[in-house]
Amino acid sequence: MEPFQYHRPGTLSEALRLLQNHGGEARPLAGGQSLMPLLAEGILAPQVLVNLVDIPEMRELSWSDSGGLSIGAVVTQRNLELSPLVQARLPSLADAVSKVASVPVRNLGTLGGNLCHAGPGADPPAILMALNSSLRISGPTGERVLPVEDLFVGPYENALAEGEVLLAIQVPPMPAGAKAVYLKHSVRAIDPAIVGIGAMVQVRNGLVREARIGMVGAGPRPVRARGAEEALRGRPFDEDSIRNAAQAAAAEAEPLTDGYASAGYRRKMVAVFVRRALEKLRVTM
Ligand SMILES: Cc1cc2nc3c(=O)[nH]c(=O)nc-3n(C[C@H](O)[C@H](O)[C@H](O)COP(=O)(O)OP(=O)(O)OC[C@H]3O[C@@H](n4cnc5c(N)ncnc54)[C@H](O)[C@@H]3O)c2cc1C
Repeated sequence: MEPFQYHRPGTLSEALRLLQNHGGEARPLAGGQSLMPLLAEGILAPQVLVNLVDIPEMRELSWSDSGGLSIGAVVTQRNLELSPLVQARLPSLADAVSKVASVPVRNLGTLGGNLCHAGPGADPPAILMALNSSLRISGPTGERVLPVEDLFVGPYENALAEGEVLLAIQVPPMPAGAKAVYLKHSVRAIDPAIVGIGAMVQVRNGLVREARIGMVGAGPRPVRARGAEEALRGRPFDEDSIRNAAQAAAAEAEPLTDGYASAGYRRKMVAVFVRRALEKLRVTM
């Protein structure tokens, strides 16, 4: 591992100043679960690490009836999974996060670090897309808001500009009567998802009023299954519409072949897991 300067600022402004002063030589650090192995293997060699874990705004976890859940970027995945607030308000999110890796990884790994790492098989993006989440991003020129799906540019590549940090993840309240679920398909629990499907469906007067489906493992980056969502909206939430949605999701997937699964297998699993996720929601409505 190459030597690096280490900073642990106590304020957001100090962190932003450090990142700006060192430009492309500096890198934010959160739980270190993904970044430190890359440093140890010499794949990355930043000259400066700026640890974000002491920044108060990034540690907050709060709820408001208008805005929903605000999750500071350095809240750990374990704290989210065990939070009575998250379990009560957004149980599908608590459940999805509990499917990340193992307890030791979740004890240190943060939700913000997971998203910024932009792993193509990471679990949280699928449910966060289904729940219509957005990201508060802070940088030298101020703050901006980004829909979560726009963070992912490609495998291990995010849309943050140099000097920007992810400040918080905003998850709005569930629409009235809506239900959500996350299903993960992996070889071992600690592996990234071969395919992971997050789905949220709202039914009104017997018809699907809103449907959002987030997929991981279905392409080089996490994506919404917009064709599948269209196949559901305005129709009865029944076996036919679910079958059509599953087929649409498989058709719009652009899966990759890697050491875990072939593209062809992934495409088949997209159809299977979209159908299972929707069936699981249907029986609870
Ligand atoms: C053995 C193992 C198994 C795993 N299995 C899974 C799995 O099954 N599912 C899954 O979803 N994930 C899995 N992961 C990834 C895990 O969730 C990591 O904790 C997570 O991806 C990174 O979080 P972190 O806080 O440790 O981030 P770090 O490793 O500290 O940082 C990751 C990247 O994000 C950047 N970054 C971090 N925070 C910010 C921020 N606030 N703003 C801007 N940039 C930031 C860093 O510069 C770095 O590039 C696994 C990891 C390990 C080690």
